[in-house]
Amino acid sequence: MTPIQPSQRAAELRALLSDYSYQYHVLDKPVVSDAIYDSLFGELKKLEAEHPELITPDSPTQRVGGELLTGFTKVAHSTRMLSLNDVFDRNEVEAWVKRTDKLLPGRKHEFFADIKMDGLACALIYQDGILAQAVTRGDSYVGEDVTANVRTIKNVPLRLRSAKGYENFLNGRTEIRGEIVMLKKDFATLNAKQTAAGKPKFANPRNLAAGTIRQLDPKLVAERPLSFNAYDLLRDDPAEVPTNMFAYEAISALGIKRNQQAAVFDKLEDVMQFVDHVEKIRDELPFNIDGLVIKVNDRALFAELGVVGKQPRAAVAYKYAAEQATTIVKDIVISIGRTGAATPVAVFDPVVVAGTTVQHASLHNADEISRLDIRVGDTVVIFKAGDIIPQVQSVVTELRPKGAKPVNYLALLAEQYPELQFERSGEDVVYRVKGANSDLILKRSVEYYAYKGALDIDTLGEKNVIALVDAGLIKDLADIYNLKTEDLLKLDRFATISANKLINAIADKKNPPLERFILGLGIRHVGMQTAIDLANRFESIDSLANASLEQLQQVDGIGRVVAESILAWFSDDDNLALLSKFNDLGVQPVFVKKVGKLSGKSFVITGSLTDMSRYEAADRIRALGGTFQTAVAKDTDYLVAGGKVGDSKLKKAQQYGTAIISEEDLVKLIS
Ligand code: NAD
Repeated sequence: MTPIQPSQRAAELRALLSDYSYQYHVLDKPVVSDAIYDSLFGELKKLEAEHPELITPDSPTQRVGGELLTGFTKVAHSTRMLSLNDVFDRNEVEAWVKRTDKLLPGRKHEFFADIKMDGLACALIYQDGILAQAVTRGDSYVGEDVTANVRTIKNVPLRLRSAKGYENFLNGRTEIRGEIVMLKKDFATLNAKQTAAGKPKFANPRNLAAGTIRQLDPKLVAERPLSFNAYDLLRDDPAEVPTNMFAYEAISALGIKRNQQAAVFDKLEDVMQFVDHVEKIRDELPFNIDGLVIKVNDRALFAELGVVGKQPRAAVAYKYAAEQATTIVKDIVISIGRTGAATPVAVFDPVVVAGTTVQHASLHNADEISRLDIRVGDTVVIFKAGDIIPQVQSVVTELRPKGAKPVNYLALLAEQYPELQFERSGEDVVYRVKGANSDLILKRSVEYYAYKGALDIDTLGEKNVIALVDAGLIKDLADIYNLKTEDLLKLDRFATISANKLINAIADKKNPPLERFILGLGIRHVGMQTAIDLANRFESIDSLANASLEQLQQVDGIGRVVAESILAWFSDDDNLALLSKFNDLGVQPVFVKKVGKLSGKSFVITGSLTDMSRYEAADRIRALGGTFQTAVAKDTDYLVAGGKVGDSKLKKAQQYGTAIISEEDLVKLIS
């Protein structure tokens, strides 16, 4: 499949996001979760940052909210009602602080933070202390006059209270901005009533609140309990409101509800503690929040920092890690587990979900592939909550590239495992290797693990393995470390000496060299050389297990097929369970960095050598700390020429500045 052009992708994202935004802001009926919207929005923003020429004036990144409904009078805002830039983690907050510091060199300032309510923004305009008008945010410049509806909200005062020290706010124009929300308990009661009346439930409090406030009939609005929580106060003379905290104090004094959590901080560290604290208590809050708002407290500095596009520079919205994100399927690879079961795995562009990077997820079986209709090139929604394993939740079919073909599972099996045949029996949803019962595969894998080239476990040869598996003493690879002398003595094959010998030989291999352990796992396409390269590159099983497709392919001699096979192995739940069982049994491979006079030097040998085999030469190079590669690459130091060097190798060596040496030179280096 040809890769999608950024311009095409941007156009598709724009169209889809505009549609989602219309459903959300205008119809108050979202068709996807905010996390999915935010994820696709983030992708578009990134694309536009990389290719600024792709930005169009109608891009969802360039505008606030949605269109205005007919039926309401339009009102221009005295000051734009902006939206906020999202940040998702500490690093992004730090980057924001750095940017503001750069624009305000040497000027210390405080941070102001409050919870970010998930409702709809509304401006209340008080004239000489009397509620004159209520206006929605609209497109940030112009909103809708919803005064009649807002007057039904019980906690919106029709007259501001007079308070000592705040008398000036009762004169002239005072604009109070805030969020109209529906409390969780009111939402639950309303939905219970809906159910009792046999009517459909409302989707979420945010859209119900937004939909309600834009009803043309205020009587209906009065039946739906809404609340107003203020977050801003504007005066014609900005000097009357020196800080955001002052605005909050004035709001309270004037008799308007606002969040009591809001606070001022000197240091970023304390802001982050506030972020953590609110995350812990967010479920206990009376309404839904979608994060925090962090601002520069000083309003003069706030104004000085200005606005970019639709967002003020002096504030950000901190969003908590979402449990959903979107990404693109790069490939579907199949792993064969220890029982011969074939498990399809989707490989993605790495994406952060619920705080962790996800780059693959099991698709379980062919039925699941059909149910999702997932295809290579598709944009998919990944779901991950807490410790659960990431799952593909759905496919965003609107973003499917032309020509993306449905998966033909049997053809995929045949393509990836041409040497094997598969079958599925009866009700089984899983395809398994034909004829190979699970015992046979287990026997082979134990034998392989124990063989000389891998863990080299003395006396654990074919016959003993067969006897142990047949007796039910070994159910998976790790079980060999569970064997006890008394178990073995029950079998005809063993007497005390031979049983002890085997138990000791196994115990002896609890800390195998990492490369041998990797080899012993029996990952398809991973032979000794690859195992060594992987060990050298990743230095531990954990980091190998978390390697991305790109990282794997960067290892010399590892192409796409091998990389996918490794990735598929580490995506198989059975294999992950096996690794943690090894760990629980105290099996811990060790990585020893080889240091010697050839440390850091890499070699390629071409043609045949006269005095030793290439493998022997490779072993000796490795013993001295050097690495052995199969092809000349950027980091190749020596190309050993056994006979004539081919043109392409020569060209590459010249291009990369690789020294071409003879067999004699090599002997001098390794002797
Ligand atoms: P935003 O995230 O840009 O935030 C700005 C708004 O935050 C303000 O206008 C204000 O209303 C609100 N706010 C709440 N508490 C506040 C506080 N303490 N201080 C200051 N402001 C506070 O919001 P947006 O531009 O209205 O909308 C973007 C959001 O809408 C995103 O979260 C997105 O997920 C959602 N959205 C969802 C869909 C969908 O299909 N699910 C579609 C479009 C937009």
